[in-house]
Amino acid sequence: MDCDRVRDALSATLDGEDPGLDDAHVDAHVDGCAGCQAFVAGAGALNRSVRVRPAEDVPDLTAAILGPRRAEPEVVEAPAWARYGLLTVAVTVLLLSVPALFTGSGPHDGRDLAAFEVALCAALLLVVWQPRRAAGLVPMVATLAVASLISITVDVANGEVPIVAEANHVLVLVGLGLLWVMAHPSRGRSAAPALA
Ligand SMILES: [Zn+2]
Repeated sequence: MDCDRVRDALSATLDGEDPGLDDAHVDAHVDGCAGCQAFVAGAGALNRSVRVRPAEDVPDLTAAILGPRRAEPEVVEAPAWARYGLLTVAVTVLLLSVPALFTGSGPHDGRDLAAFEVALCAALLLVVWQPRRAAGLVPMVATLAVASLISITVDVANGEVPIVAEANHVLVLVGLGLLWVMAHPSRGRSAAPALA
């Protein structure tokens, strides 16, 4: 009986493949063949050592990959009234500023300021669309609000109250309040559905 064919069949069985020989036939041969018995013992040990070799060490990224996703359901939705309010503020500032882009007149002197306000509106509209970005915009708008308060105070002290400009300053203050509510939605009243 050919040991090679039997050993091929034994190897195939250990690898989970089709041995190509009848099991009873192989067993009968191994029972009567010391060489193949030694082969079975050796191959079995080798096979086991290959299979149980420890896995290579890879960094555990589970938390990094699953963390943000798992946190998502806990996020409190920004209240809808704050989003609609911010939308109104952004659109109003935009309408007040866009003409100045072309004429250089308007709520403030110069096109540069108008360009800045249009950029601010773009940022506010982004927050209306994606409320989770609100916190990132708070420091900038807070700084702007302080500057606006100073500007209003100086204007009033000088007896000058250009209505449109003051409206813009007030809008910035209102926008800051709405941003704050959206950045801390748990302090707002009702968690509301997303904007349509
Ligand atoms: Zn044999």
